[in-house]
Amino acid sequence: MVLADLGRKLNAALSSLNRAPVVDEKVLDVMLKEITAALLETDVNVKLVASLRNKVKHKVKALIEQNAGDKAKEMNRKHLTQKAVFDELVSLVDPGVEPYKPKKGQCNVVMLVGLQGNGKTTTCTKLAVHYQRRGFKSAIVCADTFRAGAFDQTRQSATRAKVAYFGSYTETDPVSIAAQGVSKFKKERFEVIIVDTSGRHKQESELFQEMVQIGDAVKPNMTVLVLDASIGQAAEAQSRAFKDSADFGAIIVTKMDGHAKGGGAISAVAATQTPIIFLGVGEHLHDLDRFSPQPFISKLLG
Ligand code: GDP
Repeated sequence: MVLADLGRKLNAALSSLNRAPVVDEKVLDVMLKEITAALLETDVNVKLVASLRNKVKHKVKALIEQNAGDKAKEMNRKHLTQKAVFDELVSLVDPGVEPYKPKKGQCNVVMLVGLQGNGKTTTCTKLAVHYQRRGFKSAIVCADTFRAGAFDQTRQSATRAKVAYFGSYTETDPVSIAAQGVSKFKKERFEVIIVDTSGRHKQESELFQEMVQIGDAVKPNMTVLVLDASIGQAAEAQSRAFKDSADFGAIIVTKMDGHAKGGGAISAVAATQTPIIFLGVGEHLHDLDRFSPQPFISKLLG
């Protein structure tokens, strides 16, 4: 089930309250069952769904007990129940942590990590374009020496986007490339320097080790985990593994335009207490939407 369908199902569950004469425990249970099923079908983590269900149930049961028999308050209970669901959906995608914001007039290093194919290289250029349009002098450093063609891909898309780039066809040490590129762009007073890293290695431990080494060499102001929207229930374990070694401070979920369910990637927020900052919504340079919890849930519910 894709996110648009999730929105429709959640909406239908919430509107079912309008047809009931009053919100009692039975009505509440039916609504929560529909909401739970819709979230699970979208691959939101089972524990998160159970927690959302319990919190809404707890809040609304307290309301039912407080104002039983009071007609005016019973009418208001529908609205309060809908609001409780809305608030819990927002907190699902809101860890309450402010992400790093690049500052003008200084050098901001942003390092992207994530498994191969999740959209890191594409997102690097999208991010550079995003900041460049907002007046930041931006550049990309390609430190992915593992995937053949990664530097070519960066070179082509950066050239198309008129963004400065750095990489090497001959140097095989990604740490050295990252250090050289960042040092060069710092000297040239670039304000946003985006570092692309490898997404695959012979050994997973080598991949994580390499990320730590690149991080030590370039000292990023912000590390971003790039997650494919189709990740599903694997999101929790994968995002935790990256958090342990790369300690990212923000998440970008890519391919939200496709047929992916999206709920798994959303679960990474709670698993790592890290905010989503952008959504990738296509293959083109400008297909990057800023993410904020409240507007996202409002839009989802239509
Ligand atoms: P990397 O291995 O993590 O660097 O991944 P790439 O940047 O090479 O992306 C892998 C594939 O996903 C490419 O075909 C991209 O065009 C595609 N891709 C990346 N982001 C998005 C997105 O937001 N939407 C869609 N539809 N495709 C994307």
